[in-house]
Amino acid sequence: MDFLIQGAPVEDIDENSLEIHPPKKAAAGVKAVTVALERGIAQAGVTRTARSLLRLNQRGGFDCPGCAWPESDGKRKAAEFCENGAKAVAEENTLRVAGPEFWAAHSIAELSEKTEYWLGNQGRISEPMIIREGQTHYSPIPWAEAFDLIGEHMRSTAADKCVFYTSGRTANETAFMYQLFARSLGTNNLPDCSNMCHESSGSALNPTIGVGKGTVSLEDLHNSELIFVVGQNPGTNHPRMLSALRECKLNGGNIVAINPLPEAGLFNFKDPQTVSGVVGSGSPLTDEYLQIKVGGDLALFQALGHLLLAEEERKPGTVVDEEFVTKNTDGFDAYQQARQTLDWNETTRATGLSREQITTVAEMLIRSKATIFCWALGITQQPHSVNTIKEIVNLLLMQGNFGKPGAGACPVRGHSNVQGDRTMGIWEKPKESFLQAIDEEFGIKSPRHHGYDAVEAMEAFIDDEVDVFVSMGGNFSLACSDTGQLEVAMKRIGLTVHISTKPNRSHIVHGRTSLILPTLGRTDLDDKHPGGSQFLSVEDSMSCVHSTKGRLKPVSEHLLAEPVIVARMAEAALGAAHPVNWKAMAEDYDVIRDHIERVIPGFDDFNSRIRTKNGFVLPNQARDNRSFDTPLGRGQFSVSPIEYLTAPAGHLVLQTVRSHDQYNTTSYGVDDRYRGISNGRRVILIDEEDLRELGFQNLELVDVISVFRGQERRAENFTLVAYPTTKGCAAAYMPEANVLVHKENVSRESNTPGYKAMFVRFTRAQD
Ligand code: SF4
Repeated sequence: MDFLIQGAPVEDIDENSLEIHPPKKAAAGVKAVTVALERGIAQAGVTRTARSLLRLNQRGGFDCPGCAWPESDGKRKAAEFCENGAKAVAEENTLRVAGPEFWAAHSIAELSEKTEYWLGNQGRISEPMIIREGQTHYSPIPWAEAFDLIGEHMRSTAADKCVFYTSGRTANETAFMYQLFARSLGTNNLPDCSNMCHESSGSALNPTIGVGKGTVSLEDLHNSELIFVVGQNPGTNHPRMLSALRECKLNGGNIVAINPLPEAGLFNFKDPQTVSGVVGSGSPLTDEYLQIKVGGDLALFQALGHLLLAEEERKPGTVVDEEFVTKNTDGFDAYQQARQTLDWNETTRATGLSREQITTVAEMLIRSKATIFCWALGITQQPHSVNTIKEIVNLLLMQGNFGKPGAGACPVRGHSNVQGDRTMGIWEKPKESFLQAIDEEFGIKSPRHHGYDAVEAMEAFIDDEVDVFVSMGGNFSLACSDTGQLEVAMKRIGLTVHISTKPNRSHIVHGRTSLILPTLGRTDLDDKHPGGSQFLSVEDSMSCVHSTKGRLKPVSEHLLAEPVIVARMAEAALGAAHPVNWKAMAEDYDVIRDHIERVIPGFDDFNSRIRTKNGFVLPNQARDNRSFDTPLGRGQFSVSPIEYLTAPAGHLVLQTVRSHDQYNTTSYGVDDRYRGISNGRRVILIDEEDLRELGFQNLELVDVISVFRGQERRAENFTLVAYPTTKGCAAAYMPEANVLVHKENVSRESNTPGYKAMFVRFTRAQD
C-alpha cells in the first residue's frame, strides 16, 4: 500500500532562510541513500518508489532520466543508481498531479512569481492544456483540437518560421521522428540542449579526430593509468562516475582534478554499497588537484604540451609515441614548433597555478602510458572552449592515447540521451549524407540550408522571425542565456507548444497561444498500441545503445507517448497525402527502428540487437582501430593562440554551476549538501580575499551586474558567500544567473553561451 505522500505542494523557497555550513569533504555515503529514499517516498510512496528504483538502469528496466553515464556490461547490483538518479526518478514517478484544477487555481501572473522548484513540485500534468491571447489561466483542450490547432498554425506560416527544440531526455525513436517531421515540413530549425552544453566538444573533436563523441569505455576508465577530470563535478552531475574513478585507483591508476571549486566528489567517495563507504573514511580519489582560474585550461594544456615536448627533446623516444604520430596524425611539426617556447609569467597569470604545480602534473603525464581526459561544462562554455578541447586532443595524440586500453577522450554528457538525439539527426547543421539517406528512405526532399541553433533561435525570437515554437521536453526559457531578453521575445511568438511531464517556467512565459501536451515519462508503461506495450532506446555517453521500458501505471489516462504526439502533429501539419507513414511508426516502434537502421550507419540489425542483454556499441573509428575520419584520414594536431579570461578592474569572472539538488533547470530540493548551502539559491560563491578587496562582507545582499561589450545585465538580490573558490573567480547557480549571460557572449565556432565567462561586479542591494 502506498502511504506518506507528503507535503504537496511544497512551500516555495524563502531566501531569508538561507543556511551556510562548512563544505563536505566526501561525496555520497549513507546520507545519499537516505536522501534518495526520502525524496522518492515523499513523491510516490513506498511501493511505487521501490518498484521504480529496482528497475532503474537494470536490463529490461528503464534508463535513468538523469545523466548519460553508462551501465556496466557485467553483473549489475540491485541498486544501479545514485542519489541524483533516484531524485530524477522521484520527480517523474510522483503521484502528485497538476491537473485542470491546478491550472484553474493559479493565474499566469501568480505562477510567474514562483520558482522552478515550486513549479516542478506540483506534480505531473494530466491533461492537454491551452491558453489563448488575453486569457489569464490555462484550461483543458481535447487532444484532437490541440493537434488541429498546431496543424493550422504550421500550415499558415513558412516552415523556417517554425522552431523545433529538443531536450536531451528525448529517446532515439522519438528524436528520429521529430527531426523527420521538421525536415518534412521544410526546416532544419532543430536547436537542442547540446547547443548549450557539449557543442564545443563536437566542434573540436569532429575536425581533429573525425568523431564528435568520446573514445573510451567504462572498462578503459577502470584500467587507465592516469585520468584527468577537468571542469567537472562528478559527485553531483555524474555520481556513478565516482565508482569508476575508485576502480581506477584500486587498479593503481592516478587522478588529476582541475577545477576552480574544490568539489567534495573530486576528493573522496564514500560508496554506500561498500563497508568502507558506510562505516569507514571512504576512498580518496584525487592525487593532484589544480585549483585553476575559470578559463585558464587552454593555457594549462599548452604548458603541459611544452613540458612534454621538452622532456622528449631531453630523452628522445620516452614521451612522444613516434610511430603513432608519424603513421596516424597530421600537423605535429607545426604543433611542436608552436609549443617550443613558453611564457611562464603569462601561464601563471592565465591559470593561477605555479610552475611547480604544472610541472608535477606534466611528470605524471610523461610517466603514464594510458591517459584519459574527461571533461564537462567547465571548459565547454567559454569563448575559447573549442581551442581548449583541441589542446586536450593534442596531448592525447602526442602520446598515442587513442584506440588503446585505458586511454582516450571522454566528454561526459549531461542529459541522458543528449548524445543519442544528435545521432538521430537532431542538428541544425545536418550532413548531406544524412539528408540524402532520409530523402531516399521516405521519398521527401529535405531542406539543405542550415537552421537555428539555440542562441540563433533566441535571436530569431527577438527579431520576431518565429511563429511556432515546439519544445520536446526541456525548459528553453530558463536553460538558454540572456533570460530577460528571451522571455520578453517568447511571449510574442504566435504559438508555443510544450511537450512536457511537469509544469515549468517555459509554460508561464508562453507565446500568444500556448499548448501544454502532457506525455509519458521514462518510468511509465506505454501500452496503448495495437501490438501491445512498446519500448524505446537511448545512447549513453560511451556510445552504447540500449533499451528503456517503463512499467508504472501512468498518473493519468490522458497522457500520450512522445512518438504518438509527434506523429499526430505531423499528420495535422503535413496532411494525409504526405509520403511518410506516421501512424505505422506511432503504433509500432519497431517500424521506426527499421527506418533508423536503413538511414543511420551503425544501426544494422537494430531490432534484434536492441533486444540483447547489453544493447550494442556504435562504431567509432578512433576508438576501434586508431584511424580518423577526418579529411586527411589522420588525427589532426592544431595550433591555437594562448587565450584566457581577464576581468576588468573591480570585476570578477563568474561561472554558473548546479546545486546538488538540481538537474539542469530542475530543482529537486534546496540543499546543496556538499557545498554546505541550503534553503536558498540566490548566492554568489566568492573567495574571501576578493570579498575584502571589493569592500563587501560575507552574507551581504547585493545586485549583480555583468558587462559584455559595453552592455550590462542585472540580477537582483544575491547573497555573497565566502567560499574557497579560486581567487578572482566567483560562482552562482544556473538558471538564476543565466540572465547575466549576454546573448552574444558565446563560444566561438560552437555558439555555446558563455555561462562560464561572465565579468561581474556587485552593488549593495539597497543602493
Ligand atoms: S550517474 Fe547519472 S545515469 Fe547514473 S543513476 Fe546517477 S544520474 Fe542516473
